[in-house]
Amino acid sequence: MHLPPLRPLAPPTPEEAAREQRRRGQGALEGMIDAHVHLFPQPLFAALHRWFDTNAWHIAFRGTSEEAIAHLQQNGVARMVALVFAHKPGASRSLNRYLAQLAAAESAIIGVGTVLPGEPDARAIVKEAIDVHGLRGIKLHCHVQRVAIDDPATLDVLAACQELGVPAVVHAGREPASAAYGVDCHAICNVSRTRRVLQQLPELKLVVPHIGADEYSDYLDLCDEFPHLYLDTAMACADYFTDALDWAQLERHADRVLYGTDFPIVPYEMGRERTVLARRIVDDTAFAQIAGGNAARLWGV
Ligand SMILES: [Zn+2]
Repeated sequence: MHLPPLRPLAPPTPEEAAREQRRRGQGALEGMIDAHVHLFPQPLFAALHRWFDTNAWHIAFRGTSEEAIAHLQQNGVARMVALVFAHKPGASRSLNRYLAQLAAAESAIIGVGTVLPGEPDARAIVKEAIDVHGLRGIKLHCHVQRVAIDDPATLDVLAACQELGVPAVVHAGREPASAAYGVDCHAICNVSRTRRVLQQLPELKLVVPHIGADEYSDYLDLCDEFPHLYLDTAMACADYFTDALDWAQLERHADRVLYGTDFPIVPYEMGRERTVLARRIVDDTAFAQIAGGNAARLWGV
């Protein structure tokens, strides 16, 4: 995927402007559930800033986790699904404890822990995250963790999620790829691998971020095969990526699409994705499902 320089949003068409204005007037952009937010200890955020500045995009918001939570709340987000991910063995437990503490202090947070597939005690780490720390699911990132979604080590973690009845959020899409991950993102990620996992774990509640970028259409079709598959919009609906997303197809699958931003690891202000959705999603029921209805059902809030 070609990452373009950040441009302001294109002006809306008259119909889009009217839709956005009406929804803002109705308060439909308030009280949303952001299904994809990242909270990290400050040293890890600093490392992420350095990595993204060098290899991807300039992260606009540079505050702490507490400042990010406050920023989202001040901007109308009622609840946020907070994700962490571990990039090396032995890091998961402390990240999960960190996130559990934040979630205990702020009820708006739905905390989702992590584990590195194949690390020692992986299953025990998952069970502790859920049963001891009260986290609500497990996040994996195939690029950062350099592992395919259908790798036996990943399948073991996902099987544990299925057994515990908690959702797994897995960055299983090919994009945004970077050589700096040290793995061929396109080789280890594709929709066929995800289909194989869902065939093996039919009860698994799986969220694939970024509408499965850049296999958007195939991932939306996959929702027809698997009733527990969800896709979040993070960065895919912000008019930043330049590849094509079929908005009509997205809207036909509105019962599986979760509003999510990837805040604060984004190069623009947090409201950008919400504005685009408010303009482009035609049907009000579909908009309400994406804005929070689906997330409330999936995460039990
Ligand atoms: Zn993310």
